[in-house]
Amino acid sequence: MRSVDIIKESDESISLRFLGFPRQYINTLRRFALNEVPIMAVDDVVLHYNSSPMHDEILVHRIGLIPLKTEIGRFVSADECSCKSNLGCSKCRVMIYLDVEAKDKTRQVLSSDIVSEDDIVKPISPNIPIVILAKGQKIKLEGYARLGSGKMHAKWQAATVSVLKEVDTSKDEYILNIESVGSLTSREILLESVRILVEKLKSFENSINKLREEKEYAKSTM
Ligand SMILES: [Zn+2]
Repeated sequence: MRSVDIIKESDESISLRFLGFPRQYINTLRRFALNEVPIMAVDDVVLHYNSSPMHDEILVHRIGLIPLKTEIGRFVSADECSCKSNLGCSKCRVMIYLDVEAKDKTRQVLSSDIVSEDDIVKPISPNIPIVILAKGQKIKLEGYARLGSGKMHAKWQAATVSVLKEVDTSKDEYILNIESVGSLTSREILLESVRILVEKLKSFENSINKLREEKEYAKSTM
């Protein structure tokens, strides 16, 4: 008997119980949810001005780690885009801007200070702290958000995922937990993982079939 049940679900996290499936199957799904589901993150930053106490590289790194809301299927990854441009186009990148100054007193810079050219691709929360500016300090930068996946860099990791074995049963019973960083809902991450897994299996099957055809062709011309 094999079954899959959702034990609990919210936008942030989903837990599934798999009964009767080998552990490798669940682990494969875990790895796909971690490494293969694409989300948007700031990839390149052009820093025009930075008099904040934070070093340029650290500031750029922090901006990259701010999770951005992503809509499945709306963007293509930069290396697959038809524009073939380093700067990208509206199909493969979203520009974000940060232009802040502590005019008359100390000022905390938050993710809400980031202005996006897109209505959806924005920081998942307005309250993520970036840096504190003392009076007179300022930052001006623009960034390019692009699609990427966890296997490229942790900033594109859509979720943290774990697999637990139910200890009190002798059956193959596993719990898969997906906790979204917020760019996609937990259910979107689950469904995308499965879709990408099936797609890769199909392309694997096609490659094997091609080998078989080649072999049969070779036999028929012998
Ligand atoms: Zn493009």
